Amino acid sequence: MRTRGYGIRLGLGAKFTLAVLTILAGTMAANTLYSLHISTAFHEKQLVERGNALGRLISLVSPEAILGFDFVQLNDYTHQLSSQRDVVYGVILSPEGLPLSSYVDDSDPLIKQRLEGVQSNDIAKLLQALDDDFELIRLQFPIVHNEVSLGRFLVGISTQTLHSEYRRQLLTQSLALAAIVLFLSAAIHVVFRFNVLSPIQALIAASRQLGRGQYTTVEVKSTDEMGLLAQAFNAMAEEVRQEQAKLHRQANFDTLTGLPNRLMALDRIDHAINRAKRTHQRFALFFIDLDNFKSVNDSMGHAVGDELLAATGARVQATLRDADTVARLGGDEFLVLAPDVVNEVQVEEIAERLIRAISEPQDLHGRKVVARCSIGIVLFPDNGDCVEMLMANADNAMYQAKATGQGSAIFFTDEMNTRLRERMQMEQDLNLAVELGQLELHFQPIFDTAGQHHRGAEVLLRWHHPEWGDISPSVFIPLAEATGQIVAIGDWVLEQTCRRWSAWHNAGIDPGFLAINISRIQFRRRFSRRLAELMSLYSVPPQALELEITESVLLDDHYDVGEELKGLRAVGVKLSLDDFGTGYSSLSYLKRFRFDVLKIDRSFIAGLPDSPEDVLLVKAILALAKGLDLKVVAEGVETYGQLSFLTNHGCDLTQGYLLSRPVNHEVYSTYLNSLKAEVEPRRLVRSERRIVNAGG
Ligand code: C2E
Ligand code: MG
Ligand code: MG
Repeated sequence: MRTRGYGIRLGLGAKFTLAVLTILAGTMAANTLYSLHISTAFHEKQLVERGNALGRLISLVSPEAILGFDFVQLNDYTHQLSSQRDVVYGVILSPEGLPLSSYVDDSDPLIKQRLEGVQSNDIAKLLQALDDDFELIRLQFPIVHNEVSLGRFLVGISTQTLHSEYRRQLLTQSLALAAIVLFLSAAIHVVFRFNVLSPIQALIAASRQLGRGQYTTVEVKSTDEMGLLAQAFNAMAEEVRQEQAKLHRQANFDTLTGLPNRLMALDRIDHAINRAKRTHQRFALFFIDLDNFKSVNDSMGHAVGDELLAATGARVQATLRDADTVARLGGDEFLVLAPDVVNEVQVEEIAERLIRAISEPQDLHGRKVVARCSIGIVLFPDNGDCVEMLMANADNAMYQAKATGQGSAIFFTDEMNTRLRERMQMEQDLNLAVELGQLELHFQPIFDTAGQHHRGAEVLLRWHHPEWGDISPSVFIPLAEATGQIVAIGDWVLEQTCRRWSAWHNAGIDPGFLAINISRIQFRRRFSRRLAELMSLYSVPPQALELEITESVLLDDHYDVGEELKGLRAVGVKLSLDDFGTGYSSLSYLKRFRFDVLKIDRSFIAGLPDSPEDVLLVKAILALAKGLDLKVVAEGVETYGQLSFLTNHGCDLTQGYLLSRPVNHEVYSTYLNSLKAEVEPRRLVRSERRIVNAGG
């Protein structure tokens, strides 16, 4: 039983027991009362019958004694009544009502009481006093002889004993009844408690625990309804547990790798922070990002990409201690949490292990793949005291690691945040660069190698920042690509180039071809249509333009590269494959997509003519290009040695500081004008000097 503010609440057991108790008590009490009543009535009837028999007998035998005035005999008759229990008086009255003989049991309490009341032994008064007593049965028999009334015989029977016997019986029966009812109730309660109440209480407790997310099964003790209920509950709890586990997995684990996801990772870091604060220990976070994962996805398909991610997750996990956590944050990003690290050396060792594990060659769908990664490392509490700061700094360090080259791990430093701020500032400023006229086109002439005649120029973008001075395109182009700003910037370059070509052409100057660098991001946006639009707007013929694209464009299979290249072919412009040799599978691309020009990357030219490997490579590229009927441009030619090697091996075109650095349009215009004025084609050295000098 339980009490609450608003009253008493009865438990099921109490209710059941009370109900049983009431029913039992009610029926048994009714039964007792009824049987007592019956037996009392029976006894009363017996009393009356006995009184009747005696009365009749005495009234029959007494006429003789009355007629003979034999009062001794009469007294004898009346005193016969004393042998009868409960008969309290017997009186023979004359026809006039005078007592002739009487027997009065003055030991009887009723008679005693009445005698005290009348204060005399007068029988007539006593009879009068007893007249309306309800506990007295009064019987009267006529005494007749030869049809002449000789008097009456009165008999009084007390029912007091009978009634007190009734009360006594009632009391004992009630006590017995109460005892029986209590015993039965207790027995029923015990049975009920064991079979119903306890299982229900166990179910209630289990349900409460279920509500709190703890799963306990209840014991199935019987095969009755309670047992079935317990079984049903257990089945339901199991279902809920599995469902909860599924939801928990979905919310906290990555389906592909089975590793904790970002949500769980953040939670673990939070725990690690609290723990490290308590124990005054340090922990390390490794923010891992796979390098060029996109190319794997794009070139080998998403199934291989997924397999690589799963394999990477498994490898990372295999290299770690039990206490460490590895999570997949999303995409190709993983996070490792290593608690209780002592010093940086230990952290470095972990990073090395991670890099080694990830970069081990693996077989995916029958292809050998070597994955590389960049890792940003932060330490708690050194590099941040909350999850957000640690994550931001780890991300930042990873970004720096990525910038330094493949397969490296870098500890976070405060200076990185300065760099990040600068980068963000640069991103902001770049938004306005076009509008504020801070961008400028420079032109680097391209000559034919053999005769060193001017053939055209590569258009190279320059950003004059008001605070930081000139910023290299190799710095701001990747930033613009990452932020998407390249689309607007690239479009500006395209339009400015067409406008410039058209201005020179209108001035009667032949600038040769202009080679424009196109970013892969630009390439996605219906590029050929926009190009055709601009060319028609500025009346630029197709042979005046060349588009330089890098292999990264071809790696992207999110859109149909082949279709877009076909579109460009339809426009009629030439296509050149830039930075040839630095990408992944150049040969297969050469086979798949048709190009007009190959630009050998300057890293291969740098070693000429002394480095045997570079010599071999450049020779091979030249032979390959010849076989595929492609023109070759050598980039970054800085020495005469390089130039003569290229001349001797039949490289078609040359570009480099030896011949000319990139120059602004005024310098280039002057140069083009000087070309126009001269009858003889300009010799390399003279032109180079003049351009360089004029350009500063
Ligand atoms: P790239 O297309 O390979 O351009 C050639 C780069 O090599 C230019 O660097 C050029 O100045 C440099 N170079 C030329 N000859 C020599 C040499 O003899 N020695 C050395 N050391 N370097 C030489 P720049 O102008 O800094 O451009 C860097 C990269 O920025 C370009 O590489 C190109 O990928 C990108 N870029 C430049 N302008 C644009 C543009 O308008 N749009 C896009 N999407 N990318 C551009
Ligand atoms: Mg280029
Ligand atoms: Mg290049």
